[in-house]
Amino acid sequence: METIGTVLITEEQIADAVARMGREISADYDGTSVLLVGILKGAFLTMADLAREMRVPVEFDFMAVSSYGDATKSSGVVRILKDLDQEISDRHVVIVEDIVDTGLTLHYLLENLRVRKPASIEIAALLVKEGIQQIPIDVKYRGFDIPPDFVVGYGLDYGGLYRNLPYITVLDENNLP
Ligand code: 5GP
Repeated sequence: METIGTVLITEEQIADAVARMGREISADYDGTSVLLVGILKGAFLTMADLAREMRVPVEFDFMAVSSYGDATKSSGVVRILKDLDQEISDRHVVIVEDIVDTGLTLHYLLENLRVRKPASIEIAALLVKEGIQQIPIDVKYRGFDIPPDFVVGYGLDYGGLYRNLPYITVLDENNLP
């Protein structure tokens, strides 16, 4: 496949980071089970790979929220398109996100899920954009801090495309294929 933009994080670097995150989560939840909540669609690859690096019992659920649509700027408006299938009261929840940019999405989700009284709730995000957060979000498990460029690949899209790239690349919007 033709390489678009500049590769920022290689497939191998992603695998190493996800394995490390899996070890960290497994150590912290040793002796109990975790409910992974993946935020669709972007987190599907991180979720699948992270779960396979975890050594504690894992259950899965998913939420879908509206984010950027086809544009590259956060609207700040979060809408739940698909809610969880199960109750999370007394569960140890780890939200899995692809990327934290303004933090608006996760801020909203945390507020929404905390009301449901989980035993604990933490965040695992593959990417955290430096210097962009409008709302401080405590991302306990994080893969990479990246510059504030628009990236695609490994779950992240532009107009619905590029989610299947096995690496993360900075999209040059002025030079699209
Ligand atoms: P936030 O609410 O933190 O601003 O944005 C979170 C969501 O915006 C992410 O889950 C993702 O869907 C989208 N997003 C933020 N930055 C990027 C980016 O650089 N590339 C892509 N493809 N999506 C992004």
